[in-house]
Amino acid sequence: MSASPAAAPTETEDPNGFLAQVDRMFDAAARQTDHPVGVLRQIRACDNVVRFEFPIKRDDGQIEVIRAYRAEHSHHKKPTKGGIRYAPSVNVDEVMALSALMSYKCAIVDVPFGGAKGGVCIDAREYSTAELERITRRYAFELIRKNYIGSGIDVPAPDYGTGQREMAWIMDTYNQMTEDDLNALACVTGKPVGQGGVRGRSEATGRGVYYGIREACRFEEDMRRLGMEPGLKDKAIVVQGLGNVGYHAARILQDEGEATIVGVAEIEGAVYNPDGFDLHDLVQHREETGSVLDFPDAENIASSQKALELPCDVLIPAALEGVITTENADDIQASIVAEAANGPVTASADRTLSNRGVLVIPDVYLNAGGVTVSYFEWLRNLSHVRHGRMSRRFEERNAERILRAVDELTEEKFDEDLMERLVERVGFGASEEDLVNSGLEDTMAFAYEEIRVIRTEKGTDMRTAAFISAINKIATSYEQMGFFP
Ligand code: NAD
Repeated sequence: MSASPAAAPTETEDPNGFLAQVDRMFDAAARQTDHPVGVLRQIRACDNVVRFEFPIKRDDGQIEVIRAYRAEHSHHKKPTKGGIRYAPSVNVDEVMALSALMSYKCAIVDVPFGGAKGGVCIDAREYSTAELERITRRYAFELIRKNYIGSGIDVPAPDYGTGQREMAWIMDTYNQMTEDDLNALACVTGKPVGQGGVRGRSEATGRGVYYGIREACRFEEDMRRLGMEPGLKDKAIVVQGLGNVGYHAARILQDEGEATIVGVAEIEGAVYNPDGFDLHDLVQHREETGSVLDFPDAENIASSQKALELPCDVLIPAALEGVITTENADDIQASIVAEAANGPVTASADRTLSNRGVLVIPDVYLNAGGVTVSYFEWLRNLSHVRHGRMSRRFEERNAERILRAVDELTEEKFDEDLMERLVERVGFGASEEDLVNSGLEDTMAFAYEEIRVIRTEKGTDMRTAAFISAINKIATSYEQMGFFP
């Protein structure tokens, strides 16, 4: 076993900060590998961080100075890739930590990018659409000027507080400033479908969370250890955060996985019904009243934070980091904590949960669906063709040809009615969304299997196993580049 890379101090000052937490998780995994200490240090180090401030004019004519960041954690693969977060809490520690998680995440799901992350220090709800557009375009302008964006350089995506709209503004700003870049569309992912986005991207992280939880529940041996039946059906789910990730994860768990949503926490509070309720009804109630509270099919819970302690099989924190700490880890009643958000469980709380036998499915794997489908979007933009465009009709006709050939070979002929029904059932070609979802499902299932094998071999937890998987893959990249002996 080689020396721990912990000898290299975490770069930001805060020993309890997010970056220190991520580095501690990295170090715990690194100790279980035999890579040279220099390699481990290089993998853990954040390559570039840029912090900048720029003025914008508010609608009332006031000038406000906005602080923003972009961190590119690892260039072992290019471009680097990672979301842009709009939140008042954004700081250099958080951006560096999230960019590191992106490097490990991409490696775990075999997406050929280095990790990056951006952040703008604002509460998006306090700005008008026009102000947000000015902020986003100016942020993109700064990234372009600093050479921190481009299809082969660094490719942002949505994160907390941003979505398709912001990505379209970024792409448009980039397009205007770099007229002769044929691959301009690939400078950012998570765009609207009409602007080069890929079908299935907006729900991809939530769908990936669904596939990840489904994989975890598939293994009989693991479920028995948790005292549960294998399979997702009727598993009781509590989700914190009904945003992009949380909403789609909960919706797909209910509609496709036949799991039961028993609790939902949002910024204004939480609701719970041990017998479950329909998520679509709750979403409609929130649209009508502006709140999840007072939903007729469930009782109000004191706070979003209290909802984490509700009895359930699977708890999905899908809003912010640091919500499960040593303060509440002992009160968590779920058998599985599925980290849909980035960093919802602190390093010490993670140990408490593991010691209590709770299965924690780590963020670094579980929310990788977004970057996986971003990869598919980037490929679509670089190839300048919609996935499935060349093959869909061919596949459709092929299925019909096979049916007719079978018909010719059998003695009892299909009548035309039956043939038509058969063609309708099997004679379809994969749409872009079918291909994206199938690629995502395969990616999440394969990565889970890899992590689970490492967990078993090393006798460790899922998070450490996921980090070991990432470290091994990134170390191999460096070795293949001839960097290290
Ligand atoms: P989002 O802005 O779409 O949604 C966040 C939701 O959480 C909002 O509905 C907000 O009201 C709610 N929320 C905020 N504070 C809360 C609280 N205290 N209690 C309950 N709910 C609260 O953001 P998102 O894109 O869904 O991201 C959520 C998390 O997932 C973040 O940690 C982000 O880094 C991570 N993530 C997102 C993506 C992606 O593709 N969007 C990919 C990977 C990871």
